[in-house]
Amino acid sequence: MTENQAPQPAPLVAKSPFELRVDLGAHISEADVRAALATGDMGFLHSFTTGSAVDGPGVRVVAWTSGCHWRCVFCHNPDTWKMTNGIPVTLDAAKRELAKYREGLKRMSGGFTLSGGEALLQDRFAVRLFAAARAMGIHTALDTNGHLGSRLSDDDLGTIDLVLLDLKAWDPERHRRVAGAENGPTLEFARRLAARKKPVWVRFVLVPGWTDDPEDIGGIAGFAAGLGNVERVDVLPFHQMGRFKWKELGLTYELENVSPPTAEAVDRAVDIFRAAGLKAV
Ligand code: SF4
Repeated sequence: MTENQAPQPAPLVAKSPFELRVDLGAHISEADVRAALATGDMGFLHSFTTGSAVDGPGVRVVAWTSGCHWRCVFCHNPDTWKMTNGIPVTLDAAKRELAKYREGLKRMSGGFTLSGGEALLQDRFAVRLFAAARAMGIHTALDTNGHLGSRLSDDDLGTIDLVLLDLKAWDPERHRRVAGAENGPTLEFARRLAARKKPVWVRFVLVPGWTDDPEDIGGIAGFAAGLGNVERVDVLPFHQMGRFKWKELGLTYELENVSPPTAEAVDRAVDIFRAAGLKAV
């Protein structure tokens, strides 16, 4: 099964997703990666982190998947782009990890969030892990860019209590510049979630000079408000905590000299969402 030498095992639990992790699954053969994607028997995870208060309601355990087909200019974790940078984790091992937190999460009205990377690149693993979490009585949240939402059947969606939907930009051209991908499939997924009345929290990263055009934010706000299932909007100020990863990975980082938005700029963005009738923070 192995092509290369397995690297030293990295701990599955990380202090934060900002730990740089590379090639931890590089010893897994392509055939085994394909089999894992088809069955969900194994996933590739950057890490598990605990104690998050920002990835869904209450206190969350978050599993960070590796693998993402988008290339957001502001990505904080470009080491998660490549799936085999992550740790290969069997579904059973991921369930055991989750089970450790089961009682604590219930006491703290928290839950489990699967984030990334883009979790739906590993849709079978994601759905099976969500189903297991649900069976343990744990609230489930999927953090996604939504582009691969059509991979989830209606039954699959039934395993997810909340979708954290990342909307990067409204104007299609701006979206291509910011994320390197079309936003049409994401918007389609958002409409489908709305039709099923699935609770959604929208996440929007505010990046000066890239995503701060008021008209563009207004486009997202109007769309989100019209859906009827968006419970809140999180405006996330861009930060530079991931800059070192771009350097370490030898990637060209276009935001080298971009500063985080001011508190006033964040307030202005929040106000645009509120003016559309949404709860925004
Ligand atoms: S979708 Fe998320 S993980 Fe993928 S490039 Fe964008 S910010 Fe990074």
